[in-house]
Amino acid sequence: MDAILHHLKNSRKILIATHVNPDGDAIGSLIAMGLSLENLNKEVTFYTESAIPAVYQFLPCCDRVVSLLPPDAVYDTAIVLDCGQLGRTGKVEARLMKIPCVINIDHHTTNTGFGNLQLIDTLACATAELVYLLIKKLSVPINPAIAAAIYTGILTDTGSFRFSNTNKNAFAICKKMMDYDVVPYLISQHVYGTYSLGRIKLLNLALDTIEISDNGKMSMMTVTRDMYERTRTSSEDTDGFINYAKRVADIKMAVLIQEHLDGQKEADNGRSFHISLRSDGTVDVAAIAGAYGGGGHFSAAGFDMESGLAHIKGLIFNIAKNL
Ligand code: 5GP
Ligand code: MN
Repeated sequence: MDAILHHLKNSRKILIATHVNPDGDAIGSLIAMGLSLENLNKEVTFYTESAIPAVYQFLPCCDRVVSLLPPDAVYDTAIVLDCGQLGRTGKVEARLMKIPCVINIDHHTTNTGFGNLQLIDTLACATAELVYLLIKKLSVPINPAIAAAIYTGILTDTGSFRFSNTNKNAFAICKKMMDYDVVPYLISQHVYGTYSLGRIKLLNLALDTIEISDNGKMSMMTVTRDMYERTRTSSEDTDGFINYAKRVADIKMAVLIQEHLDGQKEADNGRSFHISLRSDGTVDVAAIAGAYGGGGHFSAAGFDMESGLAHIKGLIFNIAKNL
């Protein structure tokens, strides 16, 4: 922590990046970290490869987050947030590797320890918790914009204080954020209160795909390109869907197979999918995801795979046999 504080105080041009398909923690951490460094008069670039999901666009500064960097821009420091591997940032990975100092701030159990400086705490409920601790140490005053971003990161990564990563800091920090004008009801309304009609219809289609393994211990939900097209939705609209599969009684592991919209359309073998895994706390899904090049937390993890849907389903039903 001290080395990071020292380095940041001496940095001038800072690129802050988070993972592809950012969730509330990724975006909240990005905005809170960036605004805090701007308060210290640093020149900050906010980056994520994917568009910011509509439900998070109420957060201040979302319009300043870029998905392309000017080719000639030079940064002395990069901060990579909520990424277990540098590659989670997407196409910008090669560019990040050329920046003199990369700071890795994260809470995933599978974090590879990449970068020059690290702040990794797998017991942190969210990366936003670590960002908050760092901001405090930097003596940056918290303001309503920073507070809303931190609150959103913790709220969403703990599944509204329901998941097993919910710790004392989750409540303590969120309580503190209320001193800076955070109104929990209003943030919940933005994040969970209203969905597009397409998203509701997509949920309907997705619920209909739920399959259970023979031993009753695994539930699997599938969202295909065709379903997105029929409902005019995209991957941001599946946020939280896997929790329905996880709620099926006696399930140890829930799976959501989601087709990437940038995969090949025709050749079945060339299709590309993201596979999300959740466990009831008895199965280490980070280890399963890790075996396929992904990662995450003990009870929530994911990986990508290019293959046919039938092949991926077969593979998962095989894993389910050993649950
Ligand atoms: P989800 O699969 O629902 O998007 O993510 C569940 C958790 O696993 C998140 O904490 C996410 O950051 C992590 N995760 C998902 N996919 C990958 C992946 O491909 N690689 C790594 N390292 N982590 C992942
Ligand atoms: Mn996170």
